[in-house]
Amino acid sequence: MEQQIKITRTSNSKLKDIDFSTIPLGKAFTDHMFVCDYEDGAWQNPRIEPLELIPTHPAAMALHYGQAIFEGMKATVGNNNTPLLFRPEQNAKRFNVSAARLGMPSIPEELFVEAAKQIVGIEQAWIPPQEGSALYLRPFMYADEPFIGMRAATSYKFIVICSPAGPFFTKKIRLYAETEYIRAADGGTGEAKAAGNYAAAILPTENAKAKGYDQVLWLDANEHKYIQEVGTMNIFFKVDGKFITPRTDGSILKGITRDSVITLLKDKGFEVQERSITIDEVIGYSKEGKLEEVFGTGTAVAIAMVEAIGYKEEVITLPTTNPVSQDMKKTLDEIKTQKQEDKHGWIIPVEVAEKVG
Ligand SMILES: *Cc1c(COP(=O)(O)O)cnc(C)c1O
Repeated sequence: MEQQIKITRTSNSKLKDIDFSTIPLGKAFTDHMFVCDYEDGAWQNPRIEPLELIPTHPAAMALHYGQAIFEGMKATVGNNNTPLLFRPEQNAKRFNVSAARLGMPSIPEELFVEAAKQIVGIEQAWIPPQEGSALYLRPFMYADEPFIGMRAATSYKFIVICSPAGPFFTKKIRLYAETEYIRAADGGTGEAKAAGNYAAAILPTENAKAKGYDQVLWLDANEHKYIQEVGTMNIFFKVDGKFITPRTDGSILKGITRDSVITLLKDKGFEVQERSITIDEVIGYSKEGKLEEVFGTGTAVAIAMVEAIGYKEEVITLPTTNPVSQDMKKTLDEIKTQKQEDKHGWIIPVEVAEKVG
């Protein structure tokens, strides 16, 4: 690392105020944040400082034109209390894919990974102790240049904040296959973790909730037929002993959990097909009794088992047992806490920062 990360510690830690047994999901934040500014064509002044409000000009371009992207990753605890990151270089790569699509500057992968490591090193006491919990990291970048007009901004901020996350309950989810609204079209921003993608998903998700579902199952933009993915998860179908997951065709977010699960399923001897799959095909498999398990994959929940899929007036109900989904969830969890061997070199240990200065 050519650039030294400057560290300013808080003198007033909020750690004592948090009860790890009842963490309000997404609402608690740690003491510090990593910040780096993009100005004059270069990333400058990387620093870790007490988390506080960021002054924002009302003409900051992200607020008007939406140049804003993010990532999601988790730090867990392994043997000897060592904090661990899971494939952080993959998040760094994907962050730059998102940045490129939105006309934003790339950030050196080493700086992205170093930022994640150092903030986790400082905040390791915030990693909740219970099984299944983790420290959620939210790296993000947005255009902070004050300017009214349509062009790429010239100044940006890259920030990493952290939020302790308790164990997710393994409640099964109900999906609603959406036939009116879409998430992504060919040539759009579906492959980027762009803030605007989620803004456009809010109304359809609220509609699905009003119908008694948890999340939207997105279908393709042209024919409303091909399955893409779920809210913030990729999707897998177990059909007649084999797995099928939609091929990443430019409109689907390339999930790191998706990639890891494909590898783990193959390790266990399963065939995994990455191909187009239509909602009618899924309904057909269900009617033939061949649809065995359906689950979503994503960093936040790892594996979310699906209980039912609604499509127009039909409801596809899944079998109540999900042995492979359960096994995948357990395997991922055990790799992330070093209870199982990390055969693929996915786990990166983090050095705990000394309490100085
Ligand atoms: C983040 C995300 C995923 C899951 O990606 P992971 O790398 O597995 O966390 C899937 N779909 C969408 C739309 C996402 O935003």
